[in-house]
Amino acid sequence: MGYLQKRIEADGIIYPGNVLKIDSFLNHQIDPKVMKEIEAEFYDYFKDRKVTKVLTVEASGIAPAIMVAAHFDVPMLFAKKARPATLKAEDAFVTDVYSYTKKITSKVMVNKAYLTADDSVLIIDDFLANGEASLGLVDIVRQAGAKVAGVGICVEKSFQPGRGRLEEAGLDVYSIVRIEAIDSENQRITFKEGH
Ligand code: 5GP
Repeated sequence: MGYLQKRIEADGIIYPGNVLKIDSFLNHQIDPKVMKEIEAEFYDYFKDRKVTKVLTVEASGIAPAIMVAAHFDVPMLFAKKARPATLKAEDAFVTDVYSYTKKITSKVMVNKAYLTADDSVLIIDDFLANGEASLGLVDIVRQAGAKVAGVGICVEKSFQPGRGRLEEAGLDVYSIVRIEAIDSENQRITFKEGH
């Protein structure tokens, strides 16, 4: 069993709506040992894909994404949820993302200057639930005419449709930890074999 799974078992808290809170070690306070495991595992799986850029969405994807990008020695790019004054609307690739946890649709964007048709992009995110965030990033990559090298997910909630939607779109998905079921009444998590 990997270290991330151990931390989820020890410290994960289940919230209503099958939301797992793991912000004591992944997406608020961050355990560098978890990051090291994530970085090494994603590198090992995607190392032959000629990755030129790692893409995520702010804010919680940034920590794992920068670790992975450092390992590949390529830039990390994160989609922003608000357009800065320095970025003209016509200079951005924009897509809509529905947030599973916040229940709202928002636009995310990247500067067109940082994604080109020559890029082979590895998408990284902290969670995969319905696949909205990852599919939004895939849309941005495709707007740029670039290629998606794969999708790396820290925690996949396999009982939700995200993975299936990504695979239907022809994407290679690798998840560090897969969750088969969440029992909120008994605060129990069942894990799924494989990645
Ligand atoms: P999706 O877009 O795949 O429906 O959901 C993925 C996004 O929603 C992630 O970027 C993550 O921020 C958030 N998310 C989905 N499920 C959970 C969860 O159980 N816990 C937390 N903390 N975030 C989640």
